[in-house]
Amino acid sequence: MEMAKIGATAKGGVCRLALTDLDREARDLFITWCRQAGCTIKIDKMGNIFARRAGKDDSLAPVITGSHIDSQPTGGKFDGIYGVLSGLEVIRSLNDLKYETNRPIEVAVWTNEEGSRFAPAMVASGVFAGVFDLEYGLSRADPSGKTMGQELERIGYAGPEEVGKRPVHAFFEAHIEQGPILENEKKTIGIVQGAQGQRWFEVVMTGQEAHAGPTPMKVRKDALVGAAHVVTAVNKIGHGNQPFACATVGMITNSPNSRNTIPGSVFFTVDLRHPEDSVLSKMAAEVKAAAEEACKQHGLSIDFKEIWYSPPVKFDANCVAAVKKGAEELGFDAMPIISGAGHDACYLSRVAPTAMVFIPCEDGISHNEIENATKGDCAAGCDVLLRAIVERANAV
Ligand SMILES: [Zn+2]
Repeated sequence: MEMAKIGATAKGGVCRLALTDLDREARDLFITWCRQAGCTIKIDKMGNIFARRAGKDDSLAPVITGSHIDSQPTGGKFDGIYGVLSGLEVIRSLNDLKYETNRPIEVAVWTNEEGSRFAPAMVASGVFAGVFDLEYGLSRADPSGKTMGQELERIGYAGPEEVGKRPVHAFFEAHIEQGPILENEKKTIGIVQGAQGQRWFEVVMTGQEAHAGPTPMKVRKDALVGAAHVVTAVNKIGHGNQPFACATVGMITNSPNSRNTIPGSVFFTVDLRHPEDSVLSKMAAEVKAAAEEACKQHGLSIDFKEIWYSPPVKFDANCVAAVKKGAEELGFDAMPIISGAGHDACYLSRVAPTAMVFIPCEDGISHNEIENATKGDCAAGCDVLLRAIVERANAV
């Protein structure tokens, strides 16, 4: 709650965009707290922060945990920062208990996870994992043209460490679920198995503009009617591939968008998600077939383009088992779950054994100022995180 004061909004949320003065203030406070807990601090060239608690053998690769400090413009008090402060709380608890782990433990803050000010999302953990190169990361610009590199310099967080050169024995991220499943199932802990794969498409259906009065129904080439078929088909395909599929048409532009002209061209997007790559591909083929069928029926032509593919993520079996064991030992109701959103952990899983801990959030609402989670659930997630970290940090 102390951290949530930085960027606090009138409606009880947080606006703490990446690399703003508020982001710097929150980073400074986090580092102050980490130093008070005896940690040493390292900052890399993407502004990622690593707060380290030494291990018995400090030459071993650390177990790293963490998440992000930045928020959406109308974000909540828990998204991201919960995972950062959970890591700090793990370190404070181990200090209180005078418990030493074999390996060092580090709490990481990943720069610009949200992708709200600088696109794309998760860019700094992406550079860490080798998905993007450093130059690409630093050159990402906000709508006013300021780059991440310039803004890191300005707020004093352009660190000296090379990005991604840190060894990582294991990575854990605690996060609110950002969906309603745990709450509906009355579970305290989500043992995250991985994240959904995503396929994004941009579609243009083209017919012929004509006068809405003199043009008889049977000779029309109405692009919007064709698109409407596809919108319905996408929704049906989502329902037809449960329990995990999500299928959305979220953006549509009708042209010329005039009340007495038959629509000649429609642009829309399709967002498909599923944890199994084979099902995801099948869904994409089904959407494409539905679009071609609609074109045939309505005399339209089509441009159907895939613009983004993010393969499904499967987390590491040992790390997932460590989360499960932690939840069992503590007696929490837990269930396996798949993340519907992207997280820094998804990129980290490409270079290190990784898992996540989810806790419920009220009504499943996130990216919203009313986002909320109970103290009890926050504590539970943190306890599970501690057990998982200690288990991996004592492993050889
Ligand atoms: Zn987040």
